[in-house]
Amino acid sequence: MKKTYLYVLFLFLLISLSANAQVPGAAIDVQHYSFAIQLNDKNDAIEGKADITVKFLQKADSFHIDLVKQNASGKGMVVSGVTEKANPVQFQQISDTLNISASGREGSMHTYRITYHGVPADGLIISTNKFGHRTFFGDNWPNRAHNWLPCVDNIADKATVDFTVTAPAHYQVVANGLKISETPMSGGVKQTKWKESALLPTKVMVIGVADFAIDHTGDVNKIPVYTYVFPENKAVGFSGYAVAKEILSYYMNKVGPYAYEKLANVQSKTIFGGMENASCIFYFENSVGDKGIEELIAHEIAHQWFGDAASEKSFAHLWLSEGFATYMTNVYLEGKYGAAILKQRLEKDRKEVFEFEKQRFTPIVDTAVKDNYMQLLNANSYQKGGWVLHMLRRKMGDELFWKGIRTYYEIYDGGNANTEDLKNVMQNVSGQPLDQFFKQWLRTPGHPQLHIYLLYDNAKKSFTINIEQKQNNLYEFTLECSIDGQMHKIEVKDKKTHIEIPGNGNFKQVIFDPNVNLLAEFDMSADE
Ligand SMILES: [Zn+2]
Repeated sequence: MKKTYLYVLFLFLLISLSANAQVPGAAIDVQHYSFAIQLNDKNDAIEGKADITVKFLQKADSFHIDLVKQNASGKGMVVSGVTEKANPVQFQQISDTLNISASGREGSMHTYRITYHGVPADGLIISTNKFGHRTFFGDNWPNRAHNWLPCVDNIADKATVDFTVTAPAHYQVVANGLKISETPMSGGVKQTKWKESALLPTKVMVIGVADFAIDHTGDVNKIPVYTYVFPENKAVGFSGYAVAKEILSYYMNKVGPYAYEKLANVQSKTIFGGMENASCIFYFENSVGDKGIEELIAHEIAHQWFGDAASEKSFAHLWLSEGFATYMTNVYLEGKYGAAILKQRLEKDRKEVFEFEKQRFTPIVDTAVKDNYMQLLNANSYQKGGWVLHMLRRKMGDELFWKGIRTYYEIYDGGNANTEDLKNVMQNVSGQPLDQFFKQWLRTPGHPQLHIYLLYDNAKKSFTINIEQKQNNLYEFTLECSIDGQMHKIEVKDKKTHIEIPGNGNFKQVIFDPNVNLLAEFDMSADE
């Protein structure tokens, strides 16, 4: 008896160590989802069985799961039963919530089976592709999973997941993780099982069901890379998506080990250009043959590290996904095509940040957006977030910056982080205080607007640079200035900065920020 007791304790310890991600203040922390979904070709109704293993974080007599209830239009889910070990459990569906009257003591683990059916209002897109064939694609970002999956639809509660999909036998099924089995059944259907053993937020759990042509593109450090495209797009799709191998290899070297068992790149019907579903990335239908495919794939693969494996704690910190994916793409392209492309892209990104500020003047960490997270898919989260990483790289130097990024990933792989967590890692690695840097770039709206006034004193043969910060909040930064090819670094922190550069003749060429390292606007005037 003692032996068993010890074994149970050990098991609990293992589980609590691995599944540390949870919603602050929640009664339960989901450990595992096992979803069995039945699809058919006659209508858009799905039948589901969800086995959800939860751990009680505190003693409770009930808890709730997110699931959209069937509405007057007939869309939504109807729960027909909840059981624990085949014993019925009381439940109630109210709007988007399934209340389950089951009690547990703190630390106890329970698995509940939820049996349900209905036509998804969203989240699982059932439609036809451009070739007129029926397809089913999960599309859960940011919290649309509970339209078709009973779950805690919150980015902070990560869990492992497996999908068993029963569908007409002509379909191929792809999902997160590893394919465990594919079994023909009677009645012209097939059952396909996929299992993901890394912890995922619901936003990147997914299935894709369609008539696919599948290519095993190759392996990168033993990770198999696959392409799934519609058969009509086979030739162009297989060759276009194959660049994924090179990108995967680049990030593995730059950031750290890839968190998942495979990588599939899938042509789909996502509402986004690309959707970074963990190990099963979905791309928009016309991505096949699109000239922007390499940067799109680079963006989505970067998310496998940032957003999927190391996830933001809440959507206010979305830049930890999108800013990272934006900058990692820029860095990948810099590595492949040279430094000039990085400068070009940063210049373009900088313009987009300034344009966006005119529409919505808000800091990157945007706590004002409470539920419409689609609003956060903006130039602050993407381009400005990317720019912050670029400036941090220049501030820390390449070696320490990449050491910091690798450390951050190592610590938060499988968990959740916020902006403060990143700051602490980067501070520890660099030994530099970064409070002001993070505050001005991430928690303050706007950017430095610099008026620069140049004066050449012929008698003294010196050159005077006056820099004035015109915006309200003062920033601290290094301004690079090339004078006749020689680089000067000017430290700016006050409203007005004044420096004199001695010289022995006329200055021919003065360029501020020649290497595009500062997210600022410049307006210049000069006197002879
Ligand atoms: Zn993205």
